[in-house]
Amino acid sequence: MDHFLYRDGALYAEDVPLAEIAAAVGTPFYCYSTATLTRHFKAFDEALAGMDHMICYAMKAASNQAILRLMASLGAGMDVVSGGEYARAKAAGVPGDRIVFSGVGKTRDEMRMALSGGVRQFNLESEPEMEVLNAVALEMGVVAPVTVRVNPDVDAKTHAKIATGKSENKFGIPITRAREVYARIAEMPGLKAVGIDVHIGSQLTDLEPYRQAFTKVAELTEALRADGHDIIRLDLGGGLGIPYERNNTAPPLPKEYGAMVQEILGHTGCEIEIEPGRLIAGNAGVMVSEVIYVKQGEGRDFLIIDGAMNDLIRPAMYDAHHDIVPVVEPAPGAEQQPYDIVGPVCESGDTFAKQRMMVPLAAGDLVAFRSAGAYGAVMSSEYNTRPLIPEVLVHGDQFAVIRKRPSFEEIINRDTLPEWM
Ligand SMILES: *Cc1c(COP(=O)(O)O)cnc(C)c1O
Repeated sequence: MDHFLYRDGALYAEDVPLAEIAAAVGTPFYCYSTATLTRHFKAFDEALAGMDHMICYAMKAASNQAILRLMASLGAGMDVVSGGEYARAKAAGVPGDRIVFSGVGKTRDEMRMALSGGVRQFNLESEPEMEVLNAVALEMGVVAPVTVRVNPDVDAKTHAKIATGKSENKFGIPITRAREVYARIAEMPGLKAVGIDVHIGSQLTDLEPYRQAFTKVAELTEALRADGHDIIRLDLGGGLGIPYERNNTAPPLPKEYGAMVQEILGHTGCEIEIEPGRLIAGNAGVMVSEVIYVKQGEGRDFLIIDGAMNDLIRPAMYDAHHDIVPVVEPAPGAEQQPYDIVGPVCESGDTFAKQRMMVPLAAGDLVAFRSAGAYGAVMSSEYNTRPLIPEVLVHGDQFAVIRKRPSFEEIINRDTLPEWM
């Protein structure tokens, strides 16, 4: 459930009409709901209430400072995948011991940054990375807490670009090699293994792949303990999917996920960490855009809108579906017609939907892309010198711009000319 609902014929974000925000900030823009973000965090927190646990919000889904502050205030830690994200977590006031550092390509500089600023653990993804982190920690005279991300070789049954738990993917260390790798870590004075990490993909709509992966993690926990390692923490990654299409079957709920985790891993007594991103932010955000032209093509009508693939790349990149709804509520039973909904960028890939049934729309009408809160604003670019679109946060009947639209001048002034020109 989210807090983007029609009320008196208009689409609202909580208690604010989206049309009012559009009038104040211009289109296109992203809009997030505080109540929805909070609700999603709490759903996970309650689902894991029976176990010692920590929810490390995967900020790569939506990393605005205001969202991070909100998450931290609810008790979230953070999962970061770059030095920049680490800096964002610290800037939002998150203490180092609540920040988990993930990612396949951590650099020495990023390791130093996290070791000096404090880190809960590094999730290691390869043996070369292990050697480098050991060396960096020894140089600094510290011991780095680590887990190894194991690749359980399960099929997450999700889009190929976001599946990460098959042996052919670049992520983690094959689970079959884990005992050897932990034995090696035990010999490294700069590293201390504290647990095991697994993350098999994103937008999972079925619990079965999780069940298979976590069963392997439970077995590995026993094996590593028998080998003398002190496994106290299990990081289960993120990945729980969201319903992008309202009328389709719903993915599992956090409650069902939590019950499964308890069943398979509860007996280990380990602290459970999870790293949800999409499920927290996805349905907590919309992108609002205005129709610029309605163009009659041959055999099809195009809605040309002011949002484009640089603002929301998911349809172009993952063939993703977003529900697109008019901001003015259609009359019940109103007739619909098919539209191709496209942006102004000079690429055929700049298509949000083909032959989508909508009520008739005209230039100047507003539409909202649902489920755009995760992997939306964070993946946007200024391709075609289209300014990054603003982000707005709603809280009850208030709203605030939490990232403003840059001016053309600000964009151009980021370039610098060489001296010889
Ligand atoms: C992307 C990612 C997540 C978050 O995935 P969601 O599908 O957004 O929940 C969590 N952990 C790691 C290591 C990731 O790469």
